[in-house]
Amino acid sequence: MTADSPNHKIQQLQRLVEVNHILSSTLEFPKLLEALADTASELTRSETASILLYDARKNELRFEAIPGKPSTSINTLSVPLDSSAAGWVFQNNKPIVIQDASDDPRIFREIDSALSFTTRSLIAVPLQVKQKTIGVLEAVNKKNNSHYTEDDISILENLGCQAAIAIENARLVEQLRMANSELMRHTKVKSDFIAIASHELRTPLGLILGHASFLKDYIPSQHQEQIDVIIRSAMRLKTIIEDLSTIAHKEQGQSRIRRTPFSISEMVATTATQFQKQAASKKIELGYDVPDEDLLLEGDKEKIQIILTNLIRNAITFTDPGGQIGIKAEKDSGYLKVYVVDTGIGIPEEEQNRIFERFYQVESHLTRKHGGMGLGLSIAKAMVELHNGQIWVESKVGMGSLFCFMLPANQQQAEAAARIFRTS
Ligand code: ADP
Repeated sequence: MTADSPNHKIQQLQRLVEVNHILSSTLEFPKLLEALADTASELTRSETASILLYDARKNELRFEAIPGKPSTSINTLSVPLDSSAAGWVFQNNKPIVIQDASDDPRIFREIDSALSFTTRSLIAVPLQVKQKTIGVLEAVNKKNNSHYTEDDISILENLGCQAAIAIENARLVEQLRMANSELMRHTKVKSDFIAIASHELRTPLGLILGHASFLKDYIPSQHQEQIDVIIRSAMRLKTIIEDLSTIAHKEQGQSRIRRTPFSISEMVATTATQFQKQAASKKIELGYDVPDEDLLLEGDKEKIQIILTNLIRNAITFTDPGGQIGIKAEKDSGYLKVYVVDTGIGIPEEEQNRIFERFYQVESHLTRKHGGMGLGLSIAKAMVELHNGQIWVESKVGMGSLFCFMLPANQQQAEAAARIFRTS
């Protein structure tokens, strides 16, 4: 079969189609480049081929792949843009054919000596993506001392087009992989910090609180205010540390729930009563509504108390004087639903999903009027999820917000819920 026989051309085209498949399925960079160089030498019936990519930092073309040569052995080889055939192709963005390379000044001889090789003939095409040249694909030494043809140029150009896109995709995937692993590293640092800080702050804070409470009984009345400030601030720190440890435990998969039956109606009534004074001091009306029948829930009472407390505390924080807050509990098939509704500032629609993320606050931390660390809702969500329940918000800016959490009423219902959420 001669080089320009119809059968040979069909074979070349088939090979190009095959290569296209390989290119679209291989994202591993070195393998991809080696496959490309291999195909270039096969299709142009050359002794070897190579891929050179532009290194912007050094302004030169670096060898990335030569069939049969490990990438580590060629990555140190590069050619200058001004005195090499590949450099000419790169700068002019045009193919080149050198039929007799023996005395051609465009050949950069240092590569031949480094590879113990003699370049006799060469064909090279630019690799271009989105009108930007990223490198050069070249084939060297046409077999049987024959000449490169127009067909060789067009087949190499064709391969070059596919190669450039595949290289760019592989580079993007590589960048994404690196960004992802960097992100994971940051997430781990953040999680470790939360875990260590919450653990290490606990003991000294316990000592401050213990000693301050002890001193309160001995300090003269004119200094009681100062000691109260110390105790109040330490209690605030204690809440923050507890929030951080809750997050740390959840992240480390250490959070467990102990289901015991208790009355959610009673919890709603007591918690609402506890917050009544705080609401009244802000001139907010706070009421609750529970049905006559006692609503029993099998769940972790302490954790469910955290959910309810965080929602009511937020409702008071984000409602202006003169506003109203309502808390309601009800039964819905095998679930119990608790609503906390306020007539406060509301939450913009685009923020409504994000507020359940850790450390997320609608206003930036520096400009906001209210305290808090953006943890209350993420903790509430974590507690709800531990019970296989759901939590959501409906809100309109300037009108108010409705937060609702829905929990399976008992263990059996929780298992059913877990199955539903797993399959949906
Ligand atoms: P924080 O402790 O900082 O308030 P949360 O996780 O409890 O953190 O809440 C996150 C953010 O969601 C709040 O900073 C606030 O911007 C918004 N938010 C929460 N509850 C309400 C509410 N009832 N009304 C308006 N905005 C709210």
